[in-house]
Amino acid sequence: MIRIGILDLQGDVSEHLEMTRKAIERMGIDAEAVRVGTASEASSSDAIIISGGESTVIGKLMEETGIKDVIIREKKPVMGTCAGLILLARETDYQQPLLGLIDMKVKRIAFGRQRDSFEEKIEILGREIRGIFIRAPAVTETGEGVEVLSRLNDKIIAVKEGCNMALAFHPELGEDTGLHEYFIKEVLNCVE
Ligand code: GLN
Repeated sequence: MIRIGILDLQGDVSEHLEMTRKAIERMGIDAEAVRVGTASEASSSDAIIISGGESTVIGKLMEETGIKDVIIREKKPVMGTCAGLILLARETDYQQPLLGLIDMKVKRIAFGRQRDSFEEKIEILGREIRGIFIRAPAVTETGEGVEVLSRLNDKIIAVKEGCNMALAFHPELGEDTGLHEYFIKEVLNCVE
């Protein structure tokens, strides 16, 4: 049995919980999705999903609760969406607490305020999905070990390094469980 923890500090947590449960059901595997609000809940999870929301707030609460230390120390695989992508970065254009688990630089609100929120078809991992972008960040620099999974125009919007994955958009707000299924498969390989 593997346990996927959905970080429950701020942001669109319920949508990720529901999407992860659907993905698990479709995959027919022995797994569960739970909310994670404390360091011990993080420790008892095999992987963590960080939702969209406000990355400065989530980062601060991750430090205060000790969850940040647990994720780094116990090398939990992490999937971050939107604010979650920002938190996975090594560096951003703003001073804020970060996990630094993916060797990348990130620009917050990279698509301009006039495009605060938009939807666009994107290609990722051999599938076409509806990408939902809300004050979305983009990756501006990647280190050698980082695989770019998707671009929109000239901007990098999805990356993976080792067992960690970051998406600038919100798959949890769409209907396609494919990216959650992909992450869970990666987690199965990573925790073996
Ligand atoms: N701009 C937000 C931040 O910095 C992220 C936006 C989102 O998660 N929808 O946290």
